[in-house]
Amino acid sequence: MSCLFCRIVAGEVPATKVYEDDALVAFRDIAPAAPFHVLIVPREHISTLNDFEPAHDALVGRMVRTAAALAKEHGYHERGYRTVFNCNREAGQSVYHVHLHVLAGRSLAWPPG
Ligand code: 5GP
Ligand code: ZN
Repeated sequence: MSCLFCRIVAGEVPATKVYEDDALVAFRDIAPAAPFHVLIVPREHISTLNDFEPAHDALVGRMVRTAAALAKEHGYHERGYRTVFNCNREAGQSVYHVHLHVLAGRSLAWPPG
């Protein structure tokens, strides 16, 4: 299995997991861009945001609602947080297993670089 995040999901590569269920795993980013930075990934290998299909609608909803739940659990839901899907080269996607970034704990500039 060559996909890094599939290997994290399978437990073959260590990660600091903060949440998992039958469809999702969430873990701390290895190079955090904010005091709180986690990645929410589906257990299923899906390469990019472009590859979600209607059958994934419930999965996408769970990813987004899990982001909100983790922000709340860690105390950031009122002060604020950011969710990001980077899709393909110009957005800076570096791991081609779709993941939702959740960033919090500092003021986040807009527009992003
Ligand atoms: P992307 O640039 O594709 O949107 O985000 C990929 C993220 O994965 C980056 O923020 C990067 O720091 C993180 N990352 C890359 N390799 C690893 C790893 O082995 N473990 C963890 N926990 N995060 C990783
Ligand atoms: Zn994968």
